[in-house]
Amino acid sequence: MGDGNQYDHLFKVLLAGDAGVGKSAHFFTTVLSQFVRNGFDAESRSTIGVEFATRIVTVDDTRIKAQVWDTAGRPQYRAITAAFYRGALGALLLYDVTNSLSFRNIKAWVKELREYASPHIVAMLVGNKTDLGALRVVPAEVAAEFAMENGMMYTETSALDMSNVESAFESVLSVIYSMEL
Ligand code: GDP
Ligand code: MG
Repeated sequence: MGDGNQYDHLFKVLLAGDAGVGKSAHFFTTVLSQFVRNGFDAESRSTIGVEFATRIVTVDDTRIKAQVWDTAGRPQYRAITAAFYRGALGALLLYDVTNSLSFRNIKAWVKELREYASPHIVAMLVGNKTDLGALRVVPAEVAAEFAMENGMMYTETSALDMSNVESAFESVLSVIYSMEL
């Protein structure tokens, strides 16, 4: 791998959203599958229900080390919640397009983000499980409007058929990158 661990920027990006929406599936697709293939560094904090892994992504010829944080359930202690959000430059707030409660609860995730994260964090609302087609209950237009009202980017993905997962992640990195210039 040679210079495989050299990078110009380190961006911390969070995955948040209710249990079952597909955070771990996104985590695996954007960072762990690369780890398995290429042997990048991975570190685990699974004992406190938070884990992260890193992957180097190239944006505009610049090597960005993306450190992606995933949670298993809501952390029980404010100190852990604070550590999860601390220093984060990007956040993907996931809901399941077939689960209206997971979409309604995005309000609470936005509130937590506003309470703990930097006001400059780049946030993207992500409707996952688009492969379930006919089971959809959250219309894309409703979610897009909510995202706009809350200053977030918006997209839909399927971690099952892998559509749009990497590009959602890379869009967030590239907006962070453009803001850092
Ligand atoms: P988490 O609790 O947010 O980490 O959600 P998981 O990634 O563990 O996913 C919860 C369940 O939904 C698992 O059974 C996944 O296989 C499934 N799942 C995740 N993403 C998708 C998706 O895009 N489409 C479908 N059909 N199932 C998904
Ligand atoms: Mg999970």
